[in-house]
Amino acid sequence: MQIVNPATGAVLDEVPETTVDGVAAAYETARAGQPAWAARPLPERIDAVRRFAASVEAQRDQLAPILTAETGKPIAQAAGEITATLARIEFFVDHVTGVTADQVVHESDGLREVIRREPLGVVANISAWNYPWFVGTNVFVPALLCGNAVLYKPSEYATRTGLAIADLLHAAGVPEPVFAALPGGGATGAALLDQPIDAVFFTGSHPTGRRIAEAVAGRMVKVQLELGGKDPVYVADDVDVTAAAAALADGAFYNNGQSCCAVERIYVHEAVHDEFVEAFVAEVERFAMGDPTDPTTYLGPLTRPQQAEVLAAQVADAVDRGAIVRTGGGVLDDRGGPAGAWFAPTVLTGVDNIMVVFREESFGPVIGIASVPDDDAAVAAMDDTEYGLTAGVFTTDEERARRVLDRLDVGSAYWNCCDRVSPTLPWTGRRHSGIGSTLSVEGISTFTRPKAYHLRRP
Ligand code: NAD
Repeated sequence: MQIVNPATGAVLDEVPETTVDGVAAAYETARAGQPAWAARPLPERIDAVRRFAASVEAQRDQLAPILTAETGKPIAQAAGEITATLARIEFFVDHVTGVTADQVVHESDGLREVIRREPLGVVANISAWNYPWFVGTNVFVPALLCGNAVLYKPSEYATRTGLAIADLLHAAGVPEPVFAALPGGGATGAALLDQPIDAVFFTGSHPTGRRIAEAVAGRMVKVQLELGGKDPVYVADDVDVTAAAAALADGAFYNNGQSCCAVERIYVHEAVHDEFVEAFVAEVERFAMGDPTDPTTYLGPLTRPQQAEVLAAQVADAVDRGAIVRTGGGVLDDRGGPAGAWFAPTVLTGVDNIMVVFREESFGPVIGIASVPDDDAAVAAMDDTEYGLTAGVFTTDEERARRVLDRLDVGSAYWNCCDRVSPTLPWTGRRHSGIGSTLSVEGISTFTRPKAYHLRRP
């Protein structure tokens, strides 16, 4: 498997894909090693994770360039991802003891009822490339803290980061059998699902998530899926238009739009639509696109240059149906690197919900803007989607925001913010955006099974 720098096309490395036999061997080793890991006192597991976090922090300046080289993520954003990962680890470490402690839920007449939290066992973690530090640690850190063994299949586009994570965990004292990184693509992921694992935690696209759910259906295996989104935001007519435009341009284009919770649809009240479009386009045209190793770069290449075809087809469909390209519109051919790598940040107006760009995940630097007459029309348009990850509203009126957000079938609701994830809140999708939650105390207990003790004193 070649590891290619998407900014330049240079081959960085060749890594053997994990074979079916290799996956099976890792599973056997994990199964054998998990009970001893679970039997260790929790403070020992916490100490190992703390040492891991300390070494990630100490080596951030070496780890960020690895991520930048293999994904094209601008170096400032790569370093930012690693820094924010440390805050998530701290949350897990601080809360795991409380979440997993025995709970006495009833006591009377010599009867005691207790809930005990036990690990799931051997869990598969199949991961995405767009935020490998975030989406990886959201799973394997609480899973390990709770006493599970983890078979981690990093994305084939973030292999070196995945291998670095494994080295750091092992050096921090997580036994090798208890955490294995299994480099490879979809075939390696599929081979992992063929093992008698106890749970699968997946982050990736809806089509792959669905395949994974189907692959384990009928086996009574816990399945948690964090999938894509088509996240809408409504800009009401009472906002500071310039500030809203700046926030939303960042929400749509950060990490080149390759975020599950990137803003993917913008609905603007008709009274401020034209003013908003002008401010938004000006903001986008200020973004610095270029060498991702330059700390001033905001937009790098597409991590998967083949996504340029999807984006171009969405733009073409929208234009055919009457949308207008306000800036960008296609691939910039003069930048070098693999074909399709540099897609100009693109803003479309006159977009509506029948266009592919408002129905299917773009996962790239393309955003559509639509004009809506009122809040009801905005809610109807926002909710007209198969996805349900996040939605937001920009307004100065909190009650008005609540009336909009309460009607939307999404896992995260934003008022005057967007593209935001917090360690203390559950990260969860509805409908085609997935099932289950990571982060928050729910994202710890999900790596355990409850056992109900009915204890009667003789
Ligand atoms: P993807 O679905 O292409 O791949 C995800 C992982 O699945 C990879 O590791 C891949 O090798 C593996 N895989 C592919 N086929 C498989 C199979 N048949 N069996 C088992 N494993 C298989 O997704 P991606 O391109 O890596 O990530 C982008 C997608 O992830 C976007 O849709 C994005 O919205 C979503 N995402 C969601 C969240 C979230 O928290 N909801 C976070 C990040 C990314």
